[in-house]
Amino acid sequence: MRHGFAGRIAVVLGTRPEIIKMAEVVRLLGDRAFVVHSGQHWDEMMSGHFMEHLALPQPELSLNVGGSTRAAQIAGTLTGIDEAFASDRPDAIVVQGDTNTVVGGALVANSIDIPLVHVEAGLRSFDRAMPEEHNRVIADHLADLCLAPTDQARQNLISENIPAERIVVTGNTVVGAVERALAEGRDAAAQLLHQHQLGADDDYIVATIHRPENTDEPERLGQILRSLQELSQACPVLMPLHPRTRQRAESYGLSELLDDLTTLGPLGYDEFVSLSAGAALVISDSGGVQEEASVWKRPVIVVRRSTERPEVIGSFATLCDDPWRLTELGERILEDGLQIRQGLATVPSPYGDGSAAAQCVRAIEALLG
Ligand code: UDP
Repeated sequence: MRHGFAGRIAVVLGTRPEIIKMAEVVRLLGDRAFVVHSGQHWDEMMSGHFMEHLALPQPELSLNVGGSTRAAQIAGTLTGIDEAFASDRPDAIVVQGDTNTVVGGALVANSIDIPLVHVEAGLRSFDRAMPEEHNRVIADHLADLCLAPTDQARQNLISENIPAERIVVTGNTVVGAVERALAEGRDAAAQLLHQHQLGADDDYIVATIHRPENTDEPERLGQILRSLQELSQACPVLMPLHPRTRQRAESYGLSELLDDLTTLGPLGYDEFVSLSAGAALVISDSGGVQEEASVWKRPVIVVRRSTERPEVIGSFATLCDDPWRLTELGERILEDGLQIRQGLATVPSPYGDGSAAAQCVRAIEALLG
């Protein structure tokens, strides 16, 4: 049922990670919150499934910015919200992370003078080639409330002269999301391993690759897939393929490199988390997976030039900026597998204890009075 927007809080999201990380915040805000979905991810297994499975309410405003350029996605989110809120304005706009949807939401909040809250504020890769880095900086500097996951993120904001009064350290909401998924996804993960005749726990690799820096050049994508193929000789590789990666591999003529891997479409959250929690090794270029590794306590190789999550480097995560080194690095981690897993089992997550969503809600309520 539609309540109207006045007196309420708009949670603007549009992609898989935003849905995962905001589900608990929306739930805790209750009727006071409503969802605006930009449509940046529109694929059922990148959005609809997650909205339903994580029990988010139906969006009260749906836009349709998917599949367009970065500028068009930002502009479409901005103008769509601007029109909808012209005569019926919420009390605040909440955005999460570093997507184009975040920038659209942040700019419209600023344009029409509605308080802006940025969840997962203060992350910095210091890599200006990443659109996400610009998206984060814009949102943080426009936000009235920056909800930083760690002290390091808070420090990044302070270094950019964002006043301390605007910052609250909350932990990352992903910790609670993983804990819930682990409690529910075990059976589905075991079934999937059985169905694809993969090994038992500790005896397979999970890989996800989708970032433009890894998929835009045939040589780099080819080398990553070749490394996964090489690693699969020692340990089976399960790769849920992001739609972009599948499309690029096909158009570059690299599909046969996937033949030795078990490739699937994008997995549901509980399944993906539970599979990763039993993996000998996760190889990924995802932002969220780096954080999640600190909860499921398995080693992850981050195939990226840079990371905005330095808190896990040297413990749960190893940065691999050169895919030509990926096989060797992967083999080394597999060799020392048991020892590494035993070491990680007792390392606490730098992203908090699972109470971040509740802390975010408290901070939002304090802002709005
Ligand atoms: N994920 C998932 N199913 C998959 C692959 C990933 O549920 O098949 C989850 C993963 O656990 C993480 C999120 O999707 O929480 C990461 O999304 P993505 O890599 O698209 O975004 P990023 O975190 O890099 O912003």
